[in-house]
This record gives sequence, C-alpha cells and structure tokens, in this order.
Amino acid sequence: MASIAPLKQVFSRSTGATARRGFATTTRLDASYGFIGLGQMGYPMASNLRSKISSSDKMYIHDVNPAVTEQFAKEIGNVEIAQSVRDVAEKSYQQETILTVLPEPHHVQNVFQQMLRPDATLAEAPNNHERLFIDCSTIDPKSSAGVANAVHSSGQGRFVDAPMSGGVVGARAGTLTFMLGASEELVERTTEVLKMMGKRTIHLGPQTSGLKGKLANNYLLALNNIATAEAMNMGVKWGLDPKTLADMINTATGKCWPSEINNPVPGVSENAPAGRDYKGGFGTRLMLKDLKLALQAGAESNIVPHLGAHAQDIYSAVVVDPACKDRDFSVVYRYIGGKE
Ligand code: NAD
Repeated sequence: MASIAPLKQVFSRSTGATARRGFATTTRLDASYGFIGLGQMGYPMASNLRSKISSSDKMYIHDVNPAVTEQFAKEIGNVEIAQSVRDVAEKSYQQETILTVLPEPHHVQNVFQQMLRPDATLAEAPNNHERLFIDCSTIDPKSSAGVANAVHSSGQGRFVDAPMSGGVVGARAGTLTFMLGASEELVERTTEVLKMMGKRTIHLGPQTSGLKGKLANNYLLALNNIATAEAMNMGVKWGLDPKTLADMINTATGKCWPSEINNPVPGVSENAPAGRDYKGGFGTRLMLKDLKLALQAGAESNIVPHLGAHAQDIYSAVVVDPACKDRDFSVVYRYIGGKE
C-alpha cells in the first residue's frame, strides 16, 4: 500500500489548482486523480485531463474493458492502470479527485459499493474525507443521492453530480458543458477540475441538481426532435423545399436545436448526421435512456408529463427498427416515413 504523500506548502501552478486546494490548510505537492470508465466520453475526457494537469501529478485509470486502458496508456501515457475499482480506491491514499463516467445507474452504484466497502483506508489516510468524487454519468437523481449519501456517511470523501452535454465531439475538443449539482463549498474546487475537460460549468444547486437540469433538458430535446421531424415531414410532403422551410423556421418561433443544428432532413444542416445516413451523433439508445430516466424521476415526484410516454413509445420502436437502430436520434424522421 502506498504511504501518505508528505504535506508541503501551498504553491501556485499554471492549471489554477491553487484555488481548488483552498479546502485544505496544507496540501501535497503532487495532486492525484482517478478516472473510472474510459468509453466514448470518458476516454477523450481523461485524455484532456491528463494533458492539462501537471506531468508530476498521478493519474490512475480503470475500465472493465482492459483493452481501452492499455490503449490509453500506450497512446496518452503517464498513467497507472488500476486492475479494479477497489484498486483505484486503495491507491487513493494520495488521491484527491476521482471521476466516474459510466453508462447507467447500476454501474455507478456497483462501482461506489466496491470503492467504499470495506473502508479500510481511512485510518491510514486521514485526509480521505477530503477526496472529491465527481460523477459525470447521466443517471437518475434518486440513485445519485443514494451514492452521495453512502460516500458522505462513510466519511470517505465528498460527492457531486456533473453530467454533461456536448457529446463525443465536445469531449474530444474539451468544450463540454457540465451541469453541476454540489454544495456551495465544493463548486470552485469542482469547477477547477471540470474546466480541464470542458468550457462551461453551470451550478444548478445542491447535489442531484445537475442531473435534474440535464434530464429536464434532454426531455425537451427528445420531444423537439420528434416535433421537428414531423414538421419537416409535413412541409416536404406539401411540396416545400426543405432547406427553405428550415431557414424560415429558424427565423421564426419553431426554432430549436434539432431544426437548426441537427435537422433530420438530409442536406439541410451542414455536417448533421442526417447527411451521412444518420451515422455518428447522439444515438437513439442514449436518447431513449435519458427520456426514461426523466420520466422515472418525474414519476418519483408525482410529475406525469403528457407527451413523454408517447415519445418513449416512438424511441422504443426506433431503437429496434433495422433501418434506424444504432443511428443518430434524428433518424426518427426516417422512422415516420420522411422523404430523404
Ligand atoms: P460508453 O458505454 O461508451 O462508456 C462507458 C464505459 O464504462 C465503457 O468503457 C465501459 O467498459 C465502462 N464500464 C462499465 N462498467 C464499468 C465498471 N463497473 N467499472 C469500470 N468501467 C466500467 O458510454 P459513454 O457514451 O461514454 O457515456 C457515459 C455516460 O455519459 C453515460 O451515462 C451517458 O448517458 C453520458 N453521456 C453520453 C454522451 C454521448 O454522446 N455518448 C453525451 C452526454 C452524456
């Protein structure tokens, strides 16, 4: 087991890490980071993080798929591969920040269960309660609150939710937007870390608020996408030119992200997935997942959105349609019989 790093005086570095360290009266010379889940989003995020932190800072990575951690170590370098989630926690004597970017609620719950139990590290690592866990996964607020509670009640750190938007393109470019749910005293410290992977962090309130904001946004996106596909389909079937129709909508009250940036009619929005057989982009599976999470979280608060259940039926059919599955969610236009 690693010993605790010697405490040294606070110093200034180009990453702006000094502000993040305001939480401690003394601090270590080298910070350390854990990164769990190096998938489509996590891999480029971890890569950006590694390139922005000091080269002497330690970074431990873990994924259930060893091929991706090996690839990361080869391609990006200056990391240590942790063999298990528990291994990340055990190495975290010196670890100040652990990020998780995992698919679904049960993955996040399992990972934290393994990291927190048993809490053998506490006695020898008196600063463990200052570890910061940043979960960037899109999960439901109730599961997230359960994990936060487990972290806080075990005294092994602080937990915030920071789901993101911007997709794989934003993750690669380091331009993600993070929706942060955190207590006030953790906002500055968390933002210092997130800004190494994104360009904006919006603090929406206490823990779970980031997820609530994210799910409300993606609920609206799910509906706007279907409505745009239907409106474009109507106009095209009535004989209107799709580009002229979209240009008109985008200067009028129907304007939304799917109409302007991600128009579902091929050739209307430059570089939109519709122009490449709906490949790439934001997958129908992820859209359905987020919509279900929003509806589930709504139901837990006795909110029954009228349009959501119908939209869920549509996306559930789209994900299994052979002509639509595994494509960008704007493929709903094809599903409803839109002219391509
Ligand atoms: P992904 O499936 O590509 O990656 C998830 C990674 O987690 C995989 O590499 C997987 O092997 C790993 N993993 C699963 N269980 C694990 C465990 N127990 N321990 C360690 N690693 C484990 O998913 P993604 O597209 O990177 O998305 C991650 C999260 O970000 C999801 O919650 C998603 O909804 C959200 N998100 C995705 C996008 C997007 O465009 N892909 C955009 C915004 C938000």
